[in-house]
Amino acid sequence: ETLTNQIAAGEVIERPASVVKELIENSIDAGASRIRIDFTEAGLKQIVVQDNGSGIEADQIDLAFMRHATSKINNERDLFRVATLGFRGEALASIAAVSQVEILTRASGVKGTRAEFSGGQKKLQEDAAAQKGTQIIVNNLFFNTPARLKYLRSPRTEMTKIIDIVNRVALGYSKIAFTLTNNGKVLFRTAGNGNLQQTVANIYGRPVAEKMLPIKMENADFKINGLISRPELTRSTRNFISILLNGRYIRNYQLNAAIMDGYANKMDSRHYPVAVIAIKVDPFLVDVNVHPTKQEVRLSKEKELGRLISQAISEAIMEKQD
Ligand code: ADP
Ligand code: MG
Repeated sequence: ETLTNQIAAGEVIERPASVVKELIENSIDAGASRIRIDFTEAGLKQIVVQDNGSGIEADQIDLAFMRHATSKINNERDLFRVATLGFRGEALASIAAVSQVEILTRASGVKGTRAEFSGGQKKLQEDAAAQKGTQIIVNNLFFNTPARLKYLRSPRTEMTKIIDIVNRVALGYSKIAFTLTNNGKVLFRTAGNGNLQQTVANIYGRPVAEKMLPIKMENADFKINGLISRPELTRSTRNFISILLNGRYIRNYQLNAAIMDGYANKMDSRHYPVAVIAIKVDPFLVDVNVHPTKQEVRLSKEKELGRLISQAISEAIMEKQD
C-alpha cells in the first residue's frame, strides 16, 4: 500500500511547486479569504500553507489523508460539473506519502486538532489550540523517494516554479489575499480586494499594471474578463500570459494562439503580451478529468471561445487607439 501510494503520488506530486499548488487549491476550496505560503530551500526543507477557511473536524482528518477520499464530489453527476479545484481526493494522501506532514486545524468547534504523518503513516493526533482554518506544514519532501529528488532541477528553477504557480493562482483569485515568503522574506503580497489591476500591480509591479487594458466580452456560453498589456509593453516569453478557466489556471495551446491572434495583428509574434484572461463557463462544458495536475482540460466549444477571446482582445487594443 505504501509503495502504490508513492508511485501514484508521483503523478500529482512531481516537485515542490506541485505541493504548493495542491495545498492552495484546497485552501481556496475551503473558502479561505487569506492564504499564506512560506517555503525554505526551494520547498524541499519546508512548505507551509496557512488559510482561514473552513478547517477540518477532528474526526475527518483520517479521511482527508486517505487516497480517493474527497468531501467535494458526492456522486457521479458531480463529476460532470466540477465546481471546486480539487475533486479526486489524492493530493493530501500523495503529499503525506512522500514527506513528513503536520496539520493544525480548527473547524466549527472551540478545540482544534494537530496531527503528524510520516511517509503516509499517521504518527499522532491530539487536541490543540488553533486559529479557525488550516495550517499544513510539509517537511523534508521526497525524503523517502531519492529517485524523485534526482529529477528536480536547480533550487533556483524549483523556486521559480513555486513563485509562478502562486502568481497564477493569485491572479485567478483577486478576492483572496495571498502572501508568499521565502526564508521569511516576502516575495509578494496581494490585497485581496477583488481588483485585478491591483493584483497585477502586486505581482508584476505597478509600471506593468499601469500599461494594462481591460478586456470584457461575453456570449451565451462564455464570459471573458481580464487585462492585456498595451502593445508597447511586451515580454519575450509567453510566461506572462495566464488563462484562468473558472479560476483554474490552465495551459491550452489553442487559447494561447487565440490570444496572440487578437494581439499579433499589430505585433511581431516574438513579442508576447502580459495578459490575464479569466473565463467563466458552465462547468458542464469543461472536463477537468483528463490530466493528473488538471492543468490541461477538455473544453467543449473551444473554437468558439478562441474566436471570442481574439475579438475581445483586438477590441480592447483598438479602443485604446482612438
Ligand atoms: P480533494 O481536494 O480532491 O478533495 P485532497 O486530498 O486535496 O482532495 O483533500 C482531501 C480533503 O481534505 C478535501 O476534500 C477536504 O475535505 C479536506 N481538506 C484538505 N485541505 C483542506 C483545507 N485547507 N481546509 C479544509 N479542508 C481541507
Ligand atoms: Mg485538493
